[in-house]
Amino acid sequence: MLVGIPKEIKNQEYRVGLTPAGTRELVSRGHQVLVQKDAGAAVGLPDEAYAAAGATVCGDAQEIFARADMIIKVKEPQAVERAMLRRGQILYTYLHLAPDREQATDLIASGAVCVAYETITGAGGGLPLLAPMSEVAGRMSIQVTAAHLEKPAGGMGLLLAGVPGVAPGHVVVIGGGTVGTNALQMAVGMGARVTILDTNVERLRQLDLIFGNRITTMFSSAHALERCVASADAVIGAVLIPGATAPRLVTRAMISTMKKGAVVVDVAIDQGGCFETSHPTTHAEPTFVVDGVIHYCVANMPGAVARTSTFALTNATLGHAIALANKGWKRAMSDDPHLRAGLNVCEGQVTHEAVAKALGQPY
Ligand code: NAD
Repeated sequence: MLVGIPKEIKNQEYRVGLTPAGTRELVSRGHQVLVQKDAGAAVGLPDEAYAAAGATVCGDAQEIFARADMIIKVKEPQAVERAMLRRGQILYTYLHLAPDREQATDLIASGAVCVAYETITGAGGGLPLLAPMSEVAGRMSIQVTAAHLEKPAGGMGLLLAGVPGVAPGHVVVIGGGTVGTNALQMAVGMGARVTILDTNVERLRQLDLIFGNRITTMFSSAHALERCVASADAVIGAVLIPGATAPRLVTRAMISTMKKGAVVVDVAIDQGGCFETSHPTTHAEPTFVVDGVIHYCVANMPGAVARTSTFALTNATLGHAIALANKGWKRAMSDDPHLRAGLNVCEGQVTHEAVAKALGQPY
């Protein structure tokens, strides 16, 4: 199969759909890889590295879209890219179609076979192609917190770890899933005092077993949140109710009880956010202040660490890419129901129940 890797064109997107290591895996199985010039340059993956792995580097996206049997990307295709898709061509990327009627209409019209990373399921449950980005965002949330607690960034001038004789900062994490657990690991590693809240007691039990008395676990109720938020130096919002907008758990009144120069990081902002005071921001202007509290609400946090995110993404996507290339989409999907769960639009039809429902399309 001829696999095409175009350079991402969405604003501020530096990731690339396949690494040179991934290229080598495909090439060694007899596939051809066509990579757009400079596709990985922004994350330190030069054309020469792709060529050394067996890819052909080519000048323009049009040629890649015209020739490839499968396009591997990161972001949903932009309008000019959608116009280049053709019937039967496989598109393997993040799509996030449910709220994006315009994209859905174009993908249906293209007749392409559109496989969305975010709806592929895992044998052990969960969404394994979303997990790496949650890991990145969770780990980054503490890095961002530490930086913004510093005085030059507008923070209260607090070192998360404290020093001997001076108490560490108090980090409160709401939601103990992938983002929350990774935030927890970093905060504990930095020496902060950490409290984690979740409504899933079984999850709190697991975290208690892993981290022991280095963390405090609490059942997430309005009462507990009120008390934790008031005493926190930083709050990380990491809740998810699958398929729903995030619950607005932290009210403006709660924010107003926080210390001036405290930090909140609303990782769940891509689902609407879990702070009443949140609104989405970008890496160009990541923060704003409400009641003296710094809010960091970047909807695409992994974009800031595009190099790490690129490697993490290829690690998660490569297995299915190989299956699609080796077997073709029909057999790959009939062999693997988890990959089939990723099929969102196929040859003019919406083929994912939840996406069809959100778009009001037949299924
Ligand atoms: P997850 O499903 O692994 O974890 C969510 C956790 O929230 C679960 O443990 C759940 O029990 C808990 N929860 C639900 N309701 C709660 C409540 N009322 N109080 C406390 N906990 C509650 O999800 P995840 O992968 O950790 O993702 C979390 C959020 O981060 C999602 O909205 C995801 O889209 C988002 N995210 C954002 C970025 C970004 O760049 N901003 C990147 C990756 C993920």
